[in-house]
Amino acid sequence: MYLREPCFDIDELVKENLHVHTPFSSCAKPEMRVKAIVKRAEELNLERVALVDHFNHKNTPMVEKNTADRFVVELTETKIPFLYGAELSVYGVGKWLDSDETNAALDYRLYAANHYHLDFWEQPNEKTPRGYAEHTVKVLEALIKAERADCIAHPIHGGYVEALPDKNSLAAAVTDEELYTLMLLAKKHKVAWEINIGEALLDPELTKRLWRFGKEVGSVFHFGTDAHRIENMDTRAHIDELRRLLP
Ligand SMILES: [Zn+2]
Ligand SMILES: [Zn+2]
Repeated sequence: MYLREPCFDIDELVKENLHVHTPFSSCAKPEMRVKAIVKRAEELNLERVALVDHFNHKNTPMVEKNTADRFVVELTETKIPFLYGAELSVYGVGKWLDSDETNAALDYRLYAANHYHLDFWEQPNEKTPRGYAEHTVKVLEALIKAERADCIAHPIHGGYVEALPDKNSLAAAVTDEELYTLMLLAKKHKVAWEINIGEALLDPELTKRLWRFGKEVGSVFHFGTDAHRIENMDTRAHIDELRRLLP
């Protein structure tokens, strides 16, 4: 359970990297050993790091894995606070894979609502931008109200929707009113929005909207690079573009 204070200064937000994978996620490179992550985090002067591996099966032994990671981090004697969390799956309206017990045992509950490329993920009946937009809004609404999320990963982006050739069309089909209402709801239930570097570069319009509405609502933003390799741990790699995008 981690929620920072509302902050609209990107130079502050990039002091934390709250989206880092280890090789426990099959898509992460073997070089993402916990010791190597600690070393790189120290070189980058990060002030907080969250380890969030994918939770794509009901019986994922995430709590046990986190205990092992914590042991390795403590051996390094680093001063950087680490959060031992997970990138959890909200794969449909009111549907998640983690049990209440697992959810409560995690330091940081980052939920992905748009891994539509996975075979178990619920798809809307209508496979159009608007169909996916309506589905995503419903999924997020139910998740936020359930109060089991600390933050929403790469929010609303259609990057993983195989049925949509234009990946930015999903977010563009979410109306301003829907997005604003969702952000108000997240504020009420203390759920943060991830500024995800990949998403910001792929769909700057979406990230700009989130930022603009978030400033009005008083949303909490967290920063994450979704690092699957060591070179992607640097939160400041695209800082000039981010400063332009998120004034
Ligand atoms: Zn993800
Ligand atoms: Zn991820």
